[in-house]
Amino acid sequence: MASEGSPNRFLNPNLAEFGTTIFAEMSALAARTGAVNLGQGFPDTDGPAEVSEAAIAAIRSGHNQYPPGPGIQPLREAIARHRARFRGQAFDPDSEVLVTAGATEAIAASLLALCRVGDEVITFEPYYDSYAAVIAMAGATRRVVTLRAPGYSFDPAELAAAFTPATRMLLLNSPHNPTGKVFSRTELSQIAELCVEHDVLVVADEVYEHLVYDVEHVPIATLAGMVERTVTISSAGKIFSFTGWKIGWACGPAELIAAVRTSKQFLTYVNGGPFQYGVAVGLDLGDEFFEGYTAAMKAKRDRLCRWLAAAGFDVMVPQGTYFVTVDIRPVGAVDGVDFCLSLPERCGVVAVPTQVFYDDTDAGRHLVRFAFCKRDDVLDEAGRRLAGVSEGNR
Ligand code: PMP
Ligand code: GLN
Repeated sequence: MASEGSPNRFLNPNLAEFGTTIFAEMSALAARTGAVNLGQGFPDTDGPAEVSEAAIAAIRSGHNQYPPGPGIQPLREAIARHRARFRGQAFDPDSEVLVTAGATEAIAASLLALCRVGDEVITFEPYYDSYAAVIAMAGATRRVVTLRAPGYSFDPAELAAAFTPATRMLLLNSPHNPTGKVFSRTELSQIAELCVEHDVLVVADEVYEHLVYDVEHVPIATLAGMVERTVTISSAGKIFSFTGWKIGWACGPAELIAAVRTSKQFLTYVNGGPFQYGVAVGLDLGDEFFEGYTAAMKAKRDRLCRWLAAAGFDVMVPQGTYFVTVDIRPVGAVDGVDFCLSLPERCGVVAVPTQVFYDDTDAGRHLVRFAFCKRDDVLDEAGRRLAGVSEGNR
């Protein structure tokens, strides 16, 4: 979100447009006002006990010093097995898998390792907030292609026009935060063809890979000509509801992963040793865990969508993630930022204005994101509070 107030004299001008993240800002607003927080995407229920018990056991058994730079061997092997089981992809755990401090570090390390100053990076808007910041930190320039409601598809001609001789990378997020869109095989093939034609790298952020409803999740790395140019990223925070553990990973061809490791080792070097043992256990859990998680989150999606529709919003039912975006105009509101800033006082609910994830703010002005990774009673409480929202806007 753009900084407000006077500019910070000390901040690198490349970062001047990045103030406090919208997630921190909105969670602080929720804490200040006691509102139900459907803003920042974090679950309010712990993940599987086997996973946390394995992390506790690792602490008790003395795994408390720096883990190996690429991540502990059992976790890298579990990541490779997980990708093979669910995505049919084959990665060598020694050279093609890298454990990172959350997906956030995997994305940052990829951008810093693979982009040169002046390179262009294509991404779709609305984009996850860290993308713009790390593109800037890498000294690269973002080129944005807009996903347009209601289907959040892109115009293939607009995408083709975004490729230039300076394009180095396309940074893709599917399932997509904040819209909940899951890119279709056809869309991914259009993207892949352009990346092959222009010899462009892809960083594929698939942190919501297990939160896909009714449609298929296609990793872009599985399409023709893509495996050799794609770094695929995922995160235990999203798969196991342990967002505070910050264990993520990147998979790809050995040379790309070696490049990402080069920058990663000077960002955090390593992180979360004992948590890595927990996640290694989690990735080998039976299919019933993963199916149960998806089914539970789908039921929450439907629950919150019903409440939001009843409150009068125009709801875009998401195919993936744990976010739902609504158009606020039917309840008499116009600007998502104003709406979200006043919502805690008026209704006791916090949500995130999607506008802050756009360069073209007009495209997202009327859109607001709600997170549904919350207990049913919390969703119901938020739903009841939102029931009167349209009166407050008149
Ligand atoms: N990418 C996307 C699309 C996200 O929504 C998130 C947020 N949670 C991340 C990356 C960051 O993941 P992590 O918490 O593992 O760093
Ligand atoms: N990914 C989470 C979201 O979109 C938030 C993570 C963060 O606060 N950086 O809400």
